Amino acid sequence: MYMYEDSILGLLERLRNGETVICAEGYLLVFERRGYLTAGAFVPEVVLEHPELVRQQYEEFVHAGSDVVLAFTFYAHREKMALIGRENDLERLNKDALRMAREVADQTGTLMAGNISKVQSYESELPKSGDQEKVKEMFKEQILWAVEAGADYIAAETFHTFSEALLAVEACKECAPGKPCVVTLAIQRSIIDGKPATADGVEVCEALNRLADAGADVVGLNCARGPATMLPILEDAAKKCKAPLAAVPVVYRTSEKTPTFMTITDPMTDKPAFPIDLDCVQCSRTDIHNFGKRVQELGIKYVGLCCGNSAHLTRSLAESLGRKPPASRYSPDLSKHWLLGKGNKPPQAILDSMSGTN
Ligand SMILES: [Zn+2]
Repeated sequence: MYMYEDSILGLLERLRNGETVICAEGYLLVFERRGYLTAGAFVPEVVLEHPELVRQQYEEFVHAGSDVVLAFTFYAHREKMALIGRENDLERLNKDALRMAREVADQTGTLMAGNISKVQSYESELPKSGDQEKVKEMFKEQILWAVEAGADYIAAETFHTFSEALLAVEACKECAPGKPCVVTLAIQRSIIDGKPATADGVEVCEALNRLADAGADVVGLNCARGPATMLPILEDAAKKCKAPLAAVPVVYRTSEKTPTFMTITDPMTDKPAFPIDLDCVQCSRTDIHNFGKRVQELGIKYVGLCCGNSAHLTRSLAESLGRKPPASRYSPDLSKHWLLGKGNKPPQAILDSMSGTN
């Protein structure tokens, strides 16, 4: 456990000071890969079944360089819990996830964020929205639990539509007045006037500015797109957005042809990789390092990694920003490698066997 002595600055103070804030995310896929929740429903049951693993994951992401412990309440809203028949566990799950996040944040000198996310039924009747009041109530109960648990700010994320994101900002302002609100959109393939747009047809930069006008303190993009296809949108947003920007991509190799991880295909079979074969299109550490360098050039100060994240990638992101988190103690040192180390000369027979010349 690492004890930090510096007094803890809030999110907005850090951003105003020109600091970059790293927020490691992606818990759902981490625990699906580890065998503790089901791909499909994607509900964070692991918080109830194995809280010790969730606490450990919080600690691991801080160890790797996260400045924030994001409470694992993504998809822990009433609708998702009902989907797996566990609506009665909704409050306990949220409170446990938040309490552990607060404890780890206090022990490590990091910030703790409450987390709310999109609700499926809101999108079910697009282009009309679903039951706005019902969805807002779902946001509000989660935000109130986050406030009660002492969250430093609220992260509202993964919205496909501008209108649902706006509803989330309103819920934050009503239930967590005075606490910063970070709101991020998951941009799919909609285009308006040749520009990327939300699923309800609002051009991205306009959507971000309108969310800032509604009171969001940080606005940006998370999920859906990997670094390669999120960066072009961010480049435009960095010129046009008035609020601090957030950049939290999935860590998969999306491309112009398959701009989101929902559309990405296995390069060997051309079959859809989402959501269970994404391993074959995972970003490398170098991809993430380059992403970190680019967001720095763009002046984006709130950065993180979403689906597909793991500790080594968070460390790569942190190191790309010049950080040395505790996990950097174990960063690669190839000078001591048996083959690649300087001055190491493996036997010729081994070299021949590797190059196929014997
Ligand atoms: Zn994601």
